Amino acid sequence: MNDLVIRNGHVVVDTGIELAGGWIAVSEGRVSAYGAAGTEPPATRVVDADGRLVTPGLINTHHHIYQNLTRSYAPVVNGTLFEWLTHLYPIWARLDEEDIHLSTAVGLIELAMGGCTTSADHMYVHPRPNLIDAQVAAARELGFRFLPTRGSMTRSIEDGGLPPAVVVQDADAILADSERLIRSYHDPSPGAMIRIGLAPCSPFSVTEDLMRRTAELAEQHDVRLHSHLAEDLDEDAFCAETYGCRPVEYLERVGWATPRSWVAHFIYPSSDEQERLARAGVGVAHCPSSNMLIGGGTAPVMRLRELGMPVGLGCDGSASTDHASLWLETRTALLLGRYRGGPTAMTARDALDVATRGGARCLGWEDEIGHLRVGACADLVVWETSAVALAGAVTDPVEAWLRCAPSTAFHTIINGRFVVEDGQPTAPALEGLLRAHDRRARRLQGVLR
Ligand code: ZN
Repeated sequence: MNDLVIRNGHVVVDTGIELAGGWIAVSEGRVSAYGAAGTEPPATRVVDADGRLVTPGLINTHHHIYQNLTRSYAPVVNGTLFEWLTHLYPIWARLDEEDIHLSTAVGLIELAMGGCTTSADHMYVHPRPNLIDAQVAAARELGFRFLPTRGSMTRSIEDGGLPPAVVVQDADAILADSERLIRSYHDPSPGAMIRIGLAPCSPFSVTEDLMRRTAELAEQHDVRLHSHLAEDLDEDAFCAETYGCRPVEYLERVGWATPRSWVAHFIYPSSDEQERLARAGVGVAHCPSSNMLIGGGTAPVMRLRELGMPVGLGCDGSASTDHASLWLETRTALLLGRYRGGPTAMTARDALDVATRGGARCLGWEDEIGHLRVGACADLVVWETSAVALAGAVTDPVEAWLRCAPSTAFHTIINGRFVVEDGQPTAPALEGLLRAHDRRARRLQGVLR
């Protein structure tokens, strides 16, 4: 007996496999079968999708969830990346465990509402201990598949970096805590709900020594490596001055040009640099909204895909993008792809492939997530197809999904469990959570009621 059957949907099983009027069955957190109308197996619970679109859950490959405590922060909304960072670091220096637990809980609910079922996170300010422990606790409480990365910064203002000393740590402390988190939480087994990655913040915020030692530690424990790379032209100038080379050369020099790594942004590398990292198997987290808000440029997604690079999507931090909807990122990736390359450059199915298969490849998890083949993790989303904004869209539910609406998920199912049902998060006490989050955000920003 299956736990759940979703019937009568347009089911995207995987890139290139779609079932119009099909069904999908779930048992013990896994996809157990799928098929055409009229062949549905019995199940404890049968849900009629009523013609809606069913896709694999979307995967978020780059985020800083804690930043939802400083969203749309007025003093720097129109600053450059470096100005924005230097204003916010002192505020983030006040973060504590309770802030991180609340921001992660709220942030993961927001992600689930936008159709995301697995998210990486990049927590790189550690003014107090055990902040990633608080994130893991929040993800477990919600039942969200989560890959937090242990971010780090060692280069403070005194050492030519951007952050104040209070949010940087020394390399030994960072590596010891990284190892502790891997031992405590990293689950390499099939169907894992929590995996840990290692993520020095960016080439300009840590030392060369820490980059190398982090890569060695990741190799030793077989975990993923993540960082920002080539997000801003100021970074090119910084790397030339500090390391005497370009950011990609630096990444190669410190032992990060491996299939274990995926980097966020990757806007400015030359054609030759793109090819080199593609050959090395490095993945890219494309962050379209963040890139456009900062306004410098965007990654050449279709070219990188042609080179064979894993390319996934990232909503990026809640204080730079200010939203965390993977549906919106997928739509924006489609718009940008076509803006760059014309109407034949990218389809909604290409964008969905980036948001699912591409993200899973970035996270090294393509065997289990990003598709709904039999045996895959039961992470799937049912999307509305009959709302006002979709009226008249009757020929192609996948194109309509990104071109028209719906923007939020009707159902989001993670590990076979409804995290969003009929458009509403199933998490108890959401109102109280939001009130507490509001109090914390106001305290951090010094904005009292
Ligand atoms: Zn980022």
